[in-house]
Amino acid sequence: MIIYNYKARKLLILSFMALLLILGIYKIRNYIDFPKVIQLLKNGSLAQLNYSSEYNQGKAYGNTQFNNIIFYEGNNTKKQIALTFDDGPDTVVTPKILDILKKNDVKATFFILGNRAQRNPEIVKQILKDGHALGNHSWDHKDLDRLSPDKIKSEIQKTDNILFSITGYHPAIVRPPYGAANRKAVQEIGPMGYKVIDWSVDTLDWMGIPPNIIMYTIKREIRPGGIILQHCAGGKKGNLSNTVTALPQIIEYLKSENYEFVRVPELVGTSPGL
Ligand SMILES: [Zn+2]
Repeated sequence: MIIYNYKARKLLILSFMALLLILGIYKIRNYIDFPKVIQLLKNGSLAQLNYSSEYNQGKAYGNTQFNNIIFYEGNNTKKQIALTFDDGPDTVVTPKILDILKKNDVKATFFILGNRAQRNPEIVKQILKDGHALGNHSWDHKDLDRLSPDKIKSEIQKTDNILFSITGYHPAIVRPPYGAANRKAVQEIGPMGYKVIDWSVDTLDWMGIPPNIIMYTIKREIRPGGIILQHCAGGKKGNLSNTVTALPQIIEYLKSENYEFVRVPELVGTSPGL
């Protein structure tokens, strides 16, 4: 069909493009939680860019203010990686993750929210019993950079208190919510004796992205000393089924590449407890 009327043709093309745009946005919305992405950019990734000098020196080499306090990865000369799971524990996803790790004889690291530990102490005990490492992920996932120094300390201290009451020890690693290892937060957390742990591979699993995209990210970004970020509770609309589906594939791939799975304290060379 050929439309000779110029205006009609233009209108047809414009409507077609508008339709494509609407379909495109609709499709992308299924995969991406835009408010969270903006939040992540503001609190996480951009924060890392702002402190790129600490990023470079945070690997236990060099000598900045935060040398040997912030870690984005471990030693690059050993073919080791650490799987990390944030925001747990819950009673739905965390047990499934623990199950897969046990079946594959893999040890990982769990960064725990204090308020969830309080609600699910038995799962915290199970994580420890299975031989995984525990880390402190604040009490209720506030952006520490927006809090006063006293509030930052109390987010960490309250979580430490509950973890100590459940496990009998003080986990020595902290991951600030959103990975926002900003100067302000680290200035408070570092002197408390903690190592601040971010990551080198962000699977963005909390967005509910498909397992093949998670695998693609891992294959592209993994290297010796890597720290992989995933989640074992929460997620977009509480759905982390893609995380659970992807995990056996991740383990299989990394094993086939001869990576050794270690817990974060071993990866960065620190003791598990204070
Ligand atoms: Zn988190």
